[in-house]
Amino acid sequence: MSTISPETVRQVVADVIREVVSRNATSSPSDGIFPDMDSAIVAADTAWKAYLGCSMKDRARFVKALRDVALIPEHLEFMSRSTVEETGMGNVPDKIIKNRAVAELTPGTEDLVTEAWSGDDGLTTIEISPFGVIGAITPVTNPTETIINNSIGMLAAGNAVVFSPHPRATTISHWVIRQFNEALAAVGAPPNLIVTVMEPSIENTNAMMEHKLVRLLVATGGPGIVKAVLSSGKKAIGAGAGNPPVLVDTTANIEKAAKDIVDGASFDHNLPCTAEKEVLAVASITDLLKFEMLKHGAYELRDPELIAKLAALVVDGRHAVTGWIGKSAPVLLEAIGVTAPAGTRLIIAEVPFEHPFVRVELMMPVLPIVRVKDVEEGMDLAVIAEHGNRHTAIMHSSDVNNLTKMAKRIQTTIFVKNGPSYAGIGIGGEGYCSFTIAGPTGEGLTSARTFARRRRCVLVGGFNVR
Ligand code: NAD
Repeated sequence: MSTISPETVRQVVADVIREVVSRNATSSPSDGIFPDMDSAIVAADTAWKAYLGCSMKDRARFVKALRDVALIPEHLEFMSRSTVEETGMGNVPDKIIKNRAVAELTPGTEDLVTEAWSGDDGLTTIEISPFGVIGAITPVTNPTETIINNSIGMLAAGNAVVFSPHPRATTISHWVIRQFNEALAAVGAPPNLIVTVMEPSIENTNAMMEHKLVRLLVATGGPGIVKAVLSSGKKAIGAGAGNPPVLVDTTANIEKAAKDIVDGASFDHNLPCTAEKEVLAVASITDLLKFEMLKHGAYELRDPELIAKLAALVVDGRHAVTGWIGKSAPVLLEAIGVTAPAGTRLIIAEVPFEHPFVRVELMMPVLPIVRVKDVEEGMDLAVIAEHGNRHTAIMHSSDVNNLTKMAKRIQTTIFVKNGPSYAGIGIGGEGYCSFTIAGPTGEGLTSARTFARRRRCVLVGGFNVR
């Protein structure tokens, strides 16, 4: 009988331990959160290379896993509540609507439509292909919505994504990214398709913008970050600030316009970049419009001193004061010594066009109303108030010519006719949902096909069966 030497036993045991340790190391689930930007991006690049080997069916399954985990009712509630607690902005019921909308209505792999030419010389296709690692910068006003929206679109197009969340939404952004990594691991996706850093910061965002493995930058935020990505020397998609005007002419259904405006302007305490930020109302219908708005939870601030007091509190030069962004109407009123009637969800105030409430993107439920002499003047002023952002405008009218003229003049990416602003992002209006609306760079409401490259494949001399 042969015997095994103690040395051989030691060797076998050492080999087994090494094998077990290495298997655990490669299969241990990652939560996608890395100590520094470089290791996050390198991990995402490795993930992307593995992702190239997955089928379109795999991609669709991974996207479904993202939707499913976001749509668990407890998750919708948790992320909406936690965002309000962490950022101090917005309200839970509206954030639940926003998070649900992005999870359900962000297009997936079906958005990638192949173009083809066939003829005597053969077959040529344009395939919508991934960039690789995308660097995505997300705002404090819609932190979870943008991560869900971008993750679905970017992964559907075959990319990996490294997020640079707003530092004031770090905890909830980490939570979503962890949930996504767990959900992707459970359906067999390569680890680290969605990553971020432990401590988001401007320095980390700059490191991301400069990193050679990041092939596309997508910035959702204000003018500073849009300018930064566009100056990076890389391909960049800029989804920047808005200041959406709403114009109401004499042909509008005023009762409905009033309700739609209050609904849109108070949605998530006016945080969305798409929300109504100033009203231009033709003089002859302005009183009726205000009267109807009061029936739907608007509170009119009439005293010029109180209007000035509120302006001094919430506006600092050309910017809204951060601490008041996304606060509720009763909280804002209380700050100037006014007790809000029950059910108040929007403050309205009639002001001259030059007032800072009109010019500054407030992102709080304070809606200035400017009386204009006719629809032409309303259009002129709407164009000025929008600041050339090419973002969003709303109009209430039953005159097709007026609606058409306004749309041509204002040149916004979204133009909502006879509805609340959020109809423009698929909430109560037809069409898909996006929370990255690229006005400055022209991609419009981004989706999977936006986060992709067009590649031509040419097969010469065959496959034409016509
Ligand atoms: P913000 O510009 O302050 O921040 C957005 C992101 O950019 C954050 O992650 C922030 O950390 C980062 N950032 C800002 N300046 C930077 C710089 N110089 N260098 C590196 N990183 C920088 O905006 P916010 O307060 O988070 O969000 C509100 C703004 O975003 C509003 O102007 C709103 O209209 C706009 N917004 C636009 C869209 C859209 O789809 N177009 C969507 C949501 C919000």
